[in-house]
Amino acid sequence: MVSLTRSVLLSLSVAVVAASPSISFAAAPLIKTQAPGYFRMMLGTFEITAVSDGTLDLPVDTLLSANAKQTRAQLAKSYLGVPLETSFNAYLINTGSKLVLIDTGGGLLFGDQLGKLIKNIEAAGYKASQIDDVLLTHLHSDHVGGLLLDGAIAFPNATVHANRRESDYWLSTERMKTASANSMEFFKAAMSTLGPYIQAGKYQPFDADTMIVPGVMAHAAYGHTAGSTVYTVESKGQELNLIGDLIHVGPVQFEKPEVTIEFDVDRSAAKATRLTVFSQIAKSGQLMGGSHLPFPGLGRLKATSKGYQWLPVDYTTHLN
Ligand SMILES: [Zn+2]
Repeated sequence: MVSLTRSVLLSLSVAVVAASPSISFAAAPLIKTQAPGYFRMMLGTFEITAVSDGTLDLPVDTLLSANAKQTRAQLAKSYLGVPLETSFNAYLINTGSKLVLIDTGGGLLFGDQLGKLIKNIEAAGYKASQIDDVLLTHLHSDHVGGLLLDGAIAFPNATVHANRRESDYWLSTERMKTASANSMEFFKAAMSTLGPYIQAGKYQPFDADTMIVPGVMAHAAYGHTAGSTVYTVESKGQELNLIGDLIHVGPVQFEKPEVTIEFDVDRSAAKATRLTVFSQIAKSGQLMGGSHLPFPGLGRLKATSKGYQWLPVDYTTHLN
C-alpha cells in the first residue's frame, strides 16, 4: 500500500511538472531582512525593551589585548570567527511614570549598518518624543551618535544625563588638542552630539552614585572611560544591571575577564571594574544587559572556575 501510494504520487508529480513547465517550486525571492530589532520583558512592574541599533563586523582579534591567535582559538570554541558580527544595543525602560532610554547607538557615525534605533523604537510601539530621560553609559560615538537625527535633537522632550567626569573629559578642547588621531574622533562625536542638548539646557550631568529617576540608579564603573556608568534598574526586588561597555566580546571575555580592548581608556581600571562588577552580578543572580552582547544582550552570569558563563534570558511572552 505504501509503495503503491508513493509510486502514484511520483507519477502524478512527474505528470504535473511535464504538463506545467511554467510552475516553479522555488520562485519566492529571499526576503533578506531581520525581524524588527526589539525584545521585551518585564522587570517587576517595569517594562524593559531592548532595542537594536544594528550590528557591525569587528576585527576583534586585533582589538583585544590577548594575542590574535589566542583570540581566534577562543572564538572557535564557540564556532565563531573574525570578523565577529557585534551587536549595538540600547534599552528602553518604562517605569510607569517615566520612559527612559539607556544609550542611543551610533546614529549616522558608522555608515548604514547602525542608526536603526529610532526605527526599532517605533516598531516597538514607542515614539522618540515620548522619552523623558536619556541616560548615557559613556560618551563613545557608538553610544551618543543617535542623540541626533538629521543633525537635530532626536529626543525633543528628553533630558540627557551622563557622569560629570565623562562630559568633562570628552568635552574638553584642551584634552582634545593632545589626543591621538584615533581618539580625536571620539572627542568630536561627543561634542557634536551632546552640544545641541547643552545649548538647549537639556543636559544634566551627575556625580558618581545617584538615583536618576525612581528605580534607576547610576553607579560609577570607571575604566573603559573616565566616567563609565552602570545603571541599575530595580522594581519589586528584581534588578537589571545595564553595564554599557564593561564587556565587548562575550565568547572571549566571559571566560577570560582579564582581557581588555583597545577602546578602554584605562585598561587596568577597565579590567578591575569588570572583575568587580561581574563578581557582584554573579553573586546576586540578578539580570545584566550589555551594549555589545548578542542582541538583546540580556542574561545572567554564573561564576565558573576560570571566569563566567553567560546565561541569556529565555524568550518570553509573559508581559503582564
Ligand atoms: Zn560601545
